[in-house]
Amino acid sequence: NNYYNQDTFLYLNGAFVRAADAKMDLYSQSLHYGYAVFEGIRAYRTESGETRIFKATEHYDRLANSARLVNLPYRFDNKTLIDATYELLEMNMLQDAYIRPVVFAPANMSFLPNTDSNITIQVWEMQPFLGDRLLRVMSSSFERPNPRGFHIEAKASGHYVNSLLASQEAKAKGFDEALLSDMNGFIAEGPGANMFFERDGKLYTPSAGNILPGITRATVLEICAAEGIAVEEGKFKMSELKTADAAFFCGTAAEVIGWESIDNYQFPKPWAQTLSAHVQKVYKSWVTEKSTATISQ
Ligand code: PMP
Repeated sequence: NNYYNQDTFLYLNGAFVRAADAKMDLYSQSLHYGYAVFEGIRAYRTESGETRIFKATEHYDRLANSARLVNLPYRFDNKTLIDATYELLEMNMLQDAYIRPVVFAPANMSFLPNTDSNITIQVWEMQPFLGDRLLRVMSSSFERPNPRGFHIEAKASGHYVNSLLASQEAKAKGFDEALLSDMNGFIAEGPGANMFFERDGKLYTPSAGNILPGITRATVLEICAAEGIAVEEGKFKMSELKTADAAFFCGTAAEVIGWESIDNYQFPKPWAQTLSAHVQKVYKSWVTEKSTATISQ
């Protein structure tokens, strides 16, 4: 596999353990019911050669919030987890890395809540998420989960069956990725990324409520504020993309990645000439610069 070998360490409940020796209880409620919460975080080698986790506090805060929303006990503090993550990166000799914390339940076949939970943090070398070329995106036949049936703002494992179905459908039809609507037919997000589109010198993005509140989405909004780019959050129909100049996905793994087309409609503006491409460039610099006033660690 691409994630670990005999020399890889992971973090499990306060200890550093060899990945190949680490054990999980197969009677865990998490395996049977998808009842776990997780994060996706990136570490970068900065321009000065240090390892820096981008927005570590924001990610571990969201992990705690996801756990709270689904009633998983969370007895971990940010400092311990962030220190452990830096140590784990060093043990595995990684700088440009993907970091995957997961909080999971003990053995429990009932639907009753737990008195305890487990945490693992795994790190692996960053692989290109969707590649560097522009994406051919397909509007999915799958909708995002009904937010009245789920706490959609929690990054809960079970929600990701929806993401896998949508992404697999898009790839089976020859596209690179899916774009999902919410239950009311408004554009929501990709299987693992938020989206923006651009029209006449302005950016638009689905408002919070039926989406995962992405940390990269928040960063893009900060970039727009810093660069004087107009941006509007709102409710948008798929049909509006057919009059857009450009569009992109944004997420921790995806970073900012432009689209070539949606449902075979080609965006007319050359990517390099869009505001979106400028946002992409600024994002790349923010994640690798030593420090930026707007970045908290
Ligand atoms: N939406 C979904 C469904 C996701 O899985 C992700 C990735 N975590 C995002 C949006 C983007 O969130 P972030 O920028 O915090 O990675």
